[in-house]
Amino acid sequence: MKRSKRKNCTALFAAAAVMLAAIPGMQAFASSGAQPAGGTLAEAADGTYTSTTQGFGGDIIAEVTIENGVMTDVKVTGDSETPELGAVAVAELPEKMLAAQSVEVDGMSGATISSNAIKLAVASALAEAGVEMEVSAESAASLAEQTAEKTEETLDVDIVVIGAGGAGMTAAITAKQAGKDVLVLEKMPYVGGNTTKATGGMNAAETHYQKEQNIEDTVEQFVEDTMEGGHQINNRELVTTLAENSADAIDWLDSIGAPLPKVSFSGGATNARIHAPEDGSGVGTYLVEAFKKELENQGVSLLLETKATELILENGRAAGVKAESATTDYTIHAKAVILATGGFGANEDMYTSYRPDLKGTVTTNAPGATGDGVVMAEAAGAALVDMKEIQLHPTVEQNTSIMVTESVRGDGAILVNQSGRRFVNEMETRDVVSAAELEQDGAYAYIIFDQRLRDNLKAIEKYADAGIVTEAKDVSELAEQLGMDAAVLQETMDNWNKAVAEQKDEEFGRDTGMDHDLSSAPYYAIRIAPGIHHTMGGVRIDTDTEVLTEEGNAIAGLFAAGEVTGGVHGGNRIGGNAVADIVVFGRIAGQNASAYVDAQK
Ligand code: ADP
Repeated sequence: MKRSKRKNCTALFAAAAVMLAAIPGMQAFASSGAQPAGGTLAEAADGTYTSTTQGFGGDIIAEVTIENGVMTDVKVTGDSETPELGAVAVAELPEKMLAAQSVEVDGMSGATISSNAIKLAVASALAEAGVEMEVSAESAASLAEQTAEKTEETLDVDIVVIGAGGAGMTAAITAKQAGKDVLVLEKMPYVGGNTTKATGGMNAAETHYQKEQNIEDTVEQFVEDTMEGGHQINNRELVTTLAENSADAIDWLDSIGAPLPKVSFSGGATNARIHAPEDGSGVGTYLVEAFKKELENQGVSLLLETKATELILENGRAAGVKAESATTDYTIHAKAVILATGGFGANEDMYTSYRPDLKGTVTTNAPGATGDGVVMAEAAGAALVDMKEIQLHPTVEQNTSIMVTESVRGDGAILVNQSGRRFVNEMETRDVVSAAELEQDGAYAYIIFDQRLRDNLKAIEKYADAGIVTEAKDVSELAEQLGMDAAVLQETMDNWNKAVAEQKDEEFGRDTGMDHDLSSAPYYAIRIAPGIHHTMGGVRIDTDTEVLTEEGNAIAGLFAAGEVTGGVHGGNRIGGNAVADIVVFGRIAGQNASAYVDAQK
């Protein structure tokens, strides 16, 4: 990789100077170190003081209450901060400030911009009370770097990969294996994206693991199951490519030390086809760890906290990308570009623009899933497909966005509405169960389970720790806690236990997840509703992962793989196919981008 650098005072410098000058409490930041010049906390009048500053995503508002010379409350709101980073800083820094009675506390790593903005906002609210807070030279330097100067840097590589989730990392490793000079850009401070959240496994047919375990399966059946699951609106050619290359993808995972030998059944698959890690760990975190190691082993360059903003086109060909970090504006020249930015399930504005009915729906998505790749590709002339096809996950706790895994229903839990009645076959596909929930009064439901189930599933402890589980010693107490009619809930439970005993659910025709009844107290409930889970639509590609225009022409040099693309999953993605998608098409993108680079020489 070739690089050239230039320091550049940007317009931000002037803006920062104005901002600091306007905030008496933070004048210490503008000079070299700690030097309180005004009143102290002890001298401040009782009251609540407010101030607003600019954070990473939008306004940060601080509200500081002073009583008898002590900060008794610090409230910070910053709704636009990146969930899991800036948002965590918003939640955690005020407590630290209260404990220290100072703004000078450790910021949150990975969220420097938000942390500094929170310190600024609180210091400026204190300034309203005439309090000048002391800050260290280190904080001053950090803020100065954040606001004052940006460097311009130009890089030259063979292939730039945008996004370090499963698809991007697979593509990068493959391209590096083909001898290319590869740079990966990731806007978050960590790799993994939504891929980290995959819990099930990877669908693949005619694999050596299936053969060794005498499991009969065919590529054709994999294609038909995927088409059926996707309501037949998937792009059959892409689905065929997915299925035909899946066994080879499993071999490739073996070769990089990420075997998936445990084969089992999963929803929508005719045969045992979902491949998972031997030790039962979540497939997403398992693969992300392996990919990360392989990237390091192969020496692939990776820039974290660096967001791609625009594709560079030259004579209609993709020729690189513009990107930015907190300190640097990059111009990256590349012979080929691979888009692997994931979906847009964390971008409410974007998904409601396609599906206004989803306004206010919570999301299970990683914070980076904001559809940047879709926007950049569209600006470069790419066609988009199936943008309205958004998968809801039916069991998401709405205050925390915690997704209650399908295993809870699979192991025997039921869903009841506020009246205490079941309303659907809980084992139906995600779209059917979600739609049924939305038809209930209030558009929510409760997932109900018992102590046996809790003992059997480690995941429940995570939910209990998060404080989302209601516990009761018997059914009637549970009904009381949930505000339901106890007689109705008791009847529902009795009917269900009878259905399990007879292995016949006359009401809703459920015939799986019925190995155990719900009869061992205490009883538990989690209030849930649907949450955005997967965006099936995206950039249109062909089976070579070339990005296509509306007219069906490939945009030379531009490739895309993973959730940023549309067409593979149609109207509904079946479990196990997201991981198949990223590994199969990630590899194809890496191979074809490399071949394209070779052809340029
Ligand atoms: P996939 O499953 O298709 O690989 P993921 O959600 O796992 O999708 O990964 C996509 C990655 O791309 C995430 O880590 C996300 O933070 C990253 N990303 C999204 N937009 C950008 C961007 N503009 N620049 C750099 N990285 C991005």
